[in-house]
Amino acid sequence: MPLQTAQEKLVAGYQLVLEAYGLMGYPTKEDDNFRETAKRAAKAAQEMVRPVAEIENEINELLHKTFPARYDQMVISKHNICFGLCPHHLLPVIYRVSAAYLPRDRVVGISKLSRLIRLLARRPVLQEDLTHELAEILHSRLDSRGAAVYVEGLHMCMAARGVEAHEARLVTSAVRGTFSDQQATRQEFLDLVTATPLQLL
Ligand SMILES: [Zn+2]
Repeated sequence: MPLQTAQEKLVAGYQLVLEAYGLMGYPTKEDDNFRETAKRAAKAAQEMVRPVAEIENEINELLHKTFPARYDQMVISKHNICFGLCPHHLLPVIYRVSAAYLPRDRVVGISKLSRLIRLLARRPVLQEDLTHELAEILHSRLDSRGAAVYVEGLHMCMAARGVEAHEARLVTSAVRGTFSDQQATRQEFLDLVTATPLQLL
């Protein structure tokens, strides 16, 4: 019978992974640890990666409700730690994301901004694209005067594999509108988000 659900496909895939690791005979009497591993790994994978359509729907919901505001200065959500996967190795990436926008006449709830950031990261996506997409959403979809995004990523494919570049961090940034036109505004944002270095380990 063909595999139907995403969960079934993941469980079957992880069973093959265990087999490839030479753990075919498991669980054994000596080691019960692998009895439910394929199922557990499938569940963990589904928590790490949200289906793209689900992410889109949730973003639409988040952005649907904005509030009128007379405040027109920088709104910033700083140092959000979130998790994703790199598209090339499907290995985890730990991000620290800061994002800002300059409202025209509407603002989005601050907790929603943080949720939006975490949500966008929950898929295999290139850090460069994640940075770009977040800036686009904060500029175009919020109809803001400008948006800025600064992302630091600790990539397991760099930190944990053969190259063992333990300290390697990838830094990406994107600016739109006022942040790209005005050096002082861009600098104010960068000073705020780079004041403390990313310390994860
Ligand atoms: Zn990678």
